[in-house]
Amino acid sequence: MKKTLEIEWPILPGSISTAQSRCGKAHCVCKLRPPRLHGTYYRWTGIIGGKRTTKTISKEVAQECLRRIRNCRQLQRDIETLLRMALADAPWTSPSKSSRNKSKRP
Ligand SMILES: [Zn+2]
Repeated sequence: MKKTLEIEWPILPGSISTAQSRCGKAHCVCKLRPPRLHGTYYRWTGIIGGKRTTKTISKEVAQECLRRIRNCRQLQRDIETLLRMALADAPWTSPSKSSRNKSKRP
């Protein structure tokens, strides 16, 4: 028996975050009260080669990343569903013939 997963490609692991910041210049709009912060900056964070990695990206790239991350999370949900189905159907859940046929002899 074969099961097939439908995958919406491309996918991307990780997550997107946004940030605003102040710069190093002494007289800048980001030092005003209230401050006008620089940004918004977009960042992708995820694991590459076992290392937590952050990349600063453009808004356009961030939107594409979000689309792929949604696909990736859908795939992960689908895999979790399959794993639950697999556990519900584990070999030990059905009575095995050998133990059923083995009658206890006095
Ligand atoms: Zn500034």
